[in-house]
Amino acid sequence: MKERHFEKRLPLTQDQIAYFCMEMGLTSAMPTYNGGLGVLAGDTLKSLADLRVPTVGLSLLYKHGYFEQHVDENGVQTSTAEEWDPHEFLQPLQATVTVQLEGRTVTVGVWEYSLKGYSDFEVPIYFLDTDLEENDPEARQITDHLYAGDDYHRFKQEVILGIGGIRMLDALGCHNITNYHMNEGHSSLLTVELLKYIYDEDKDMDENLHELRDRCIFTTHTTVPAAHDRFEKSMVESALGEGYIPRRMYEMSADEEERLNMTHLAMNFSRFINGVAKKHRDVSLEMFPQYDIEAITNGIHVNTWVGDHMRELFSYHIPGWENEPSMLRNALRLPRNELWNAHQAQKQQLIEYIREVNGTELNVDTFTIGFGRRMTLYKRPSFIFENLERLLKIHNEIGHMQFVFSGKAHPDEQQSQELIEELYSYMEKLGDRMSVVFLEDYSMEIAHHMISGVDLWLNNPRVPKEASGTSGMKAALNGIPSLSTLDGWWLEGCVEEKTGWGIEPQTETEHESLYNKLEYVIIPKYYQHRDEYQEIMRNAIAINGAYFHTDRMVKEYLVRAYFD
Ligand SMILES: *Cc1c(COP(=O)(O)O)cnc(C)c1O
Repeated sequence: MKERHFEKRLPLTQDQIAYFCMEMGLTSAMPTYNGGLGVLAGDTLKSLADLRVPTVGLSLLYKHGYFEQHVDENGVQTSTAEEWDPHEFLQPLQATVTVQLEGRTVTVGVWEYSLKGYSDFEVPIYFLDTDLEENDPEARQITDHLYAGDDYHRFKQEVILGIGGIRMLDALGCHNITNYHMNEGHSSLLTVELLKYIYDEDKDMDENLHELRDRCIFTTHTTVPAAHDRFEKSMVESALGEGYIPRRMYEMSADEEERLNMTHLAMNFSRFINGVAKKHRDVSLEMFPQYDIEAITNGIHVNTWVGDHMRELFSYHIPGWENEPSMLRNALRLPRNELWNAHQAQKQQLIEYIREVNGTELNVDTFTIGFGRRMTLYKRPSFIFENLERLLKIHNEIGHMQFVFSGKAHPDEQQSQELIEELYSYMEKLGDRMSVVFLEDYSMEIAHHMISGVDLWLNNPRVPKEASGTSGMKAALNGIPSLSTLDGWWLEGCVEEKTGWGIEPQTETEHESLYNKLEYVIIPKYYQHRDEYQEIMRNAIAINGAYFHTDRMVKEYLVRAYFD
């Protein structure tokens, strides 16, 4: 059946896509990612491979990963390097290229990750590495850590990714690339290098820039203006030398203080620009009114994020769903008791995992709320504890709750780290009145356990800061409804009381809305009207699982961006 489904390759072309991203979340044990951006990149490439779309991926090889998180009994986070052996996952290749940085030559090596789709179609992902003997000690460290070091360090990493990436594709013989997809602005220097490759002396600069634009695609992922990289002109020039970036390109992409804005650089030279949810497109258009920005709503790779028991259940009742995840709409047919049993089995797996790594014993019959993501201010991790009295009243009078939290705070962001301390101080206040678990060192593995094993997925970002969010999509695939502020993807995914619940502050505060939903709707359903709760679980799969996946998303990119 698998074979028949993929007799034909989807696009009728030999053209290739080159997909660039600063982080790449392919498998939990390979610490080349931080959060949603990297996991999305990995999920996207997996679906491109499933759909047999000729693609190569480009990223950096971080020998010391992002960081390993340790949290003490007061919630104080410390970090150590993530030691891993790239040989376990990747094949070092012979090819090298050089890049001029600060007037000296830096050699860039490359490792290949062979990503295989369903029918064994292969998408190679190239991880660039400056940790080579030819390089001086400083240059060797450029690709050490993901998102670490100062601005200048970051800029050098972006030089390796953007400029080194284009040169490496040439060295590896990838000459049929018609789409250079910049997933976030970190790789936008590729436009500068690509122009040098395609520059035609017989044409004027405008025509050459038009040719460049014709080859590039840009996806923006943030709503936070500060998250768009900007680099001082002096820094750019000392790294790349004066005049490396053509004046036209620089001027078009610089801010009032002549800093190079990487988002503008990418947007100016892309023929297609998109945000990652419809609302995010609107927010991006407000930030960047001079560009056409479209919306392609994110998704998740179903085969990566489905739990074992749900997979079995789906495969029995909806054969073929893995190759064609939109078939999950037939989840409306799943027998409620079987769905429940699969869910409980996955919940049991989560509980066992927590016992192993944390020593805490949660109860499989207690309503369990999960919250896992990067710890950062706008995501407001301890939001639900801000009125403990109300929460405890619901807990005691309506039905018991238990909580699972996880997430890393960036080691350079003091305020983000304090969010974990705040969570711990609430845990301390709650004492043994309520079980709250914090799992150290959030990863794709922990995310997988959580999004397949809790009863409710909580997300309360400060509106309108969430570009999309994808963890709630992973939960929906596993039949777990979300309770979330109406932002990002949830504006599209929330059908109130059918797929989950919105935190709606129209007539009350956000906190009241959250507690009222729990008290009057969600927890009574869970404990007293279980059949209604199960109905919502089923809808979460059939309505959201069947849509918010990267198979659908990649097809949108194919038709609207890559091969339009
Ligand atoms: C899916 C995922 C995320 C994204 O979480 P959001 O709630 O969408 O921000 C972050 N980190 C990991 C490890 C993930 O798997």
